[in-house]
Amino acid sequence: MNKKKILQLCTFLVLTNTFLTTFSNSATAREKAPTQTTLIQKTIEQAYTKFKPVQDGQNASYIPYLAKADSALYGIAIVTVDGQVFKVGNADHNFPVESVSKIFTLADVLQKKGADTILRKVGVNATGLPFNSVLAIELNNDKLGGSPPAGNPLVNAGAIATASLVEGKTVEAKWKSVLDTASAFAGHPLHLNEDVYQSEMASNQHNQAIAILLHSYDALYADPMETVDLYTRECSYDVNALDLATMGATLANGGTNPRTHLPVVNATTSAHVLAVMATAGLYNTTGEWLFKVGLPGKSGVGGGIVAVVPGKLAIGVYSSRLDTAGNSVRGQLAVQFIAEALGANIFSSKAQ
Ligand code: GLN
Repeated sequence: MNKKKILQLCTFLVLTNTFLTTFSNSATAREKAPTQTTLIQKTIEQAYTKFKPVQDGQNASYIPYLAKADSALYGIAIVTVDGQVFKVGNADHNFPVESVSKIFTLADVLQKKGADTILRKVGVNATGLPFNSVLAIELNNDKLGGSPPAGNPLVNAGAIATASLVEGKTVEAKWKSVLDTASAFAGHPLHLNEDVYQSEMASNQHNQAIAILLHSYDALYADPMETVDLYTRECSYDVNALDLATMGATLANGGTNPRTHLPVVNATTSAHVLAVMATAGLYNTTGEWLFKVGLPGKSGVGGGIVAVVPGKLAIGVYSSRLDTAGNSVRGQLAVQFIAEALGANIFSSKAQ
């Protein structure tokens, strides 16, 4: 073979190879898309059916509005980073966001004030104690945990300290900032549930005590009662499982809402929020959650849970009965089942 012939042969082989690779890639993509879609829908339907009969746990009893929630309601939603939506059960039923809101207010403050403010003024370490623990403030104040007194932004003390850092001249301006950010995460305007807000304002003496205690340690950065009011409003806007999945998918997608395509926060803020969720999202049982599920998650006593698979998708679940730590029982079971079925554990070498 002369040089020219060899060159022609090589060119032919390269072109053939490129054609075959391109063809087989697009064939795989074509086959993969419906398969993945079917798998996700099938998986959430299985999780729904499997855990529907579970009656364990109880509605939050210390907030009158939540005590009377219909515990038969149960919904699951998944939103992917390319904007696909999957739902089953009561995924459109509205319920109070409660502590899940803490991650979106944290995102608002991180984005506007920077990570250093949260590290120095609130802290990001696990407390190992219940979400409304006053003892945790005392322990942290003695520097036993090496953290500021508030602990971290996802327990009540830290969420109240974070609320005190929200920008705005008046409580109304701060509330607008919190609600606007949460709404951008959800992709539509969210609304205060006035009944929940009134119910919590009439029964939030413990949170008032936390705010005053933080204030006494110079660890609250605005007026205590005004901050408790803002924090209580933040717990009282309504969401549904689909909203939680969309809000979580925004974090999974580096801070851009995959349904509206609008940027909400930057990728650094998203990563910081997910790190704090992995540390403290399910309060004193976060370790067990991470061990079993392997995903950053956040729960609320309203019965909502969001779990995030970074770069891929988020799962939102609603079911009002809670375990003793304050986490939805069916919510945890459903997310664990789905994470296993989709191979989503971020610590698994087999993660898909
Ligand atoms: N509003 C509730 C409280 O402050 C939120 C607690 C929660 O969801 N864990 O107690």
